Amino acid sequence: MDGHSDILIIGGGMAGLSAATALAATGQSIIVLDKGRGPGGRMAARRVEISGEKVSFDHGAQYFTARDPAFRETVAGWEAGGVAARWPAAGDDAWVATPGMNACVKAMASKLVVRWGVRAERLLREGDRWQVETDGQSFAAATVLVAVPAEQAAVLLADAAPDLAALAASVTSAPCWAVMAGFDAPLPIAADCYRSDTGPVSWAARNSAKPGRSGVETWVIHASPQRSRALIDLSKEEVAQILLADFFAATGIAPVTPQHIDAHRWLYALPQALKGEGARFDAANGIGIAGDWLHSPRVEGAWLSGRALADAVVQERLASTS
Ligand SMILES: Cc1cc2nc3c(=O)[nH]c(=O)nc-3n(C[C@H](O)[C@H](O)[C@H](O)COP(=O)(O)OP(=O)(O)OC[C@H]3O[C@@H](n4cnc5c(N)ncnc54)[C@H](O)[C@@H]3O)c2cc1C
Repeated sequence: MDGHSDILIIGGGMAGLSAATALAATGQSIIVLDKGRGPGGRMAARRVEISGEKVSFDHGAQYFTARDPAFRETVAGWEAGGVAARWPAAGDDAWVATPGMNACVKAMASKLVVRWGVRAERLLREGDRWQVETDGQSFAAATVLVAVPAEQAAVLLADAAPDLAALAASVTSAPCWAVMAGFDAPLPIAADCYRSDTGPVSWAARNSAKPGRSGVETWVIHASPQRSRALIDLSKEEVAQILLADFFAATGIAPVTPQHIDAHRWLYALPQALKGEGARFDAANGIGIAGDWLHSPRVEGAWLSGRALADAVVQERLASTS
């Protein structure tokens, strides 16, 4: 056995770590598994070198809101700790993690036991415990919480928890191609954010203008769901050039050759979230689910879903001991 805990959480994005943080505060032992090489999930940051300078691109979530009082309190703590700052260019209630979008997740993970680069492959019920198998490792826990995108949850839970798997299978997520481009001089675009509900580029932002960033002019360009679907099977090199041309056309500036260009395909970027779920916990079998798809397709929705799942687990513990 490679790990043994009261609670095992699969998925160390915002939802999984929100649940882990709340549950760790109750004194339970928690292990989080995440298949990613480092913290972020869809709040990812990619570091590259452009003309000898190290820069970081936020190629997933661009900013987040903090409307719920409990989440606002958490964000205030991140701000005090230097890992979040307001970004007025995106809106009155827009926040970014600093110095890269993964910083809040990284800060949460630093207070927890998280095993990066470990993909959960199989969940087996053995008596009143769960055994989770990964590539060559095995973890045991009384309770398993799954906080991964809906499409991935549906596969992982198919045999272990068919009801939860069916719920996950009812959700479809829109893909998003993201282009990261660096230039040797500022582009002649006054605003730092571009949005469109109808064009092929749904969002573009001057990444280098976000608080806490520095260095060369960098832009992140997101294709609309429709454009992303149309380009879904092309290579990232082809997509980067197509979306860069879309971006120049949308902003009306003359094409400029970038110093650096790359693209990333998010297959499950934005789910059509289930209304009114928040999270689900099957107390009889000690298994639960969280994620933005159970609340709303946003960072704040993921955090609230993780918190709702933690609350459900705690309520169940209280009920069973009273
Ligand atoms: C391109 C894009 C733009 C976005 N823009 C915004 C925005 O501007 N504002 C906003 O609020 N939100 C935005 N979002 C949405 C936001 O990023 C998500 O709602 C939020 O980060 C979801 O968190 P999560 O924890 O539910 O899922 P994730 O962040 O996807 O975390 C799930 C984690 O599970 C891990 N995992 C998956 N399968 C396994 C497995 N089998 N074993 C172990 N680990 C596994 C993954 O590695 C991942 O780290 C955007 C998302 C994308 C992709």
